[in-house]
Amino acid sequence: MSWEEVADRCFRRRHGRFDVTVGVVTGRLGTVLVDTGASPAEGWELRAELRALGVGEPVAVVTTHGHFDHCFGNAAFTGLFWGHAGLPEYLRREVWITMAADDPDWARSVAGTEVPAPTQTVSGTAVIDLGDRLVEIHHLGRGHTGHDLVVQVPDAGVLFAGDLVEESGPPAYGGDSFPLDWPLTLTRLLDLRPEVIVPGHGEPVDRAFTARQRDAVAAVAHGVRETFDAGLDPVQALTAHDWPYDPLRLLQAVRRGHAQLAPPWE
Ligand SMILES: [Zn+2]
Repeated sequence: MSWEEVADRCFRRRHGRFDVTVGVVTGRLGTVLVDTGASPAEGWELRAELRALGVGEPVAVVTTHGHFDHCFGNAAFTGLFWGHAGLPEYLRREVWITMAADDPDWARSVAGTEVPAPTQTVSGTAVIDLGDRLVEIHHLGRGHTGHDLVVQVPDAGVLFAGDLVEESGPPAYGGDSFPLDWPLTLTRLLDLRPEVIVPGHGEPVDRAFTARQRDAVAAVAHGVRETFDAGLDPVQALTAHDWPYDPLRLLQAVRRGHAQLAPPWE
């Protein structure tokens, strides 16, 4: 698997053990890198791949969210690190818990890795000026996590979506997801009118694919509400409702959604 130029000077490749997508945007004043892989070793490999692509050291590294497969390679880079304002706390507190639950063997193998904290934080929109083009960073709302960022290159019609959009599998609902918010976040993403959407995992997709995924996560949110209103517990909800994805992958979606709907005194 090698680099693909999805639009003018916007590249992506699938990288590393967890098949994460990394993105590269180049301009007159340098290169922006989007996500870095699941370990410092994968970050160092990526640096070599950047040289093979013919671009220099990135002037900025954007972390779409704090899941280890997207940001543990950051340790191999220097310069400006962009992340959501909630990322530093997430990295301090939650990343190891998430990793240990998802893949305990991997968690052990990279224990002690220091992920550089973001030097630049975003809670709305920020712009990186590459001289002859602008790269926009947006937090469009919660969804896959509470701190998802997307990276848009308006002149090329490209948007790097992180795990808000997935192509090689269904959207991943973990214990840090916001299933009720996710549909609106994807609607806002579509409102940016990108031509090419680069998911966090899998092949690039178009707006029609992303609209279908938005409709499916909206159906999940609807099911979460309906089963909560019916008084079902999460396990009952998974069998009683007709879900758009394999119910076995939706336990956290229902748990998280029901918890969000429960009144605070419960
Ligand atoms: Zn993720």
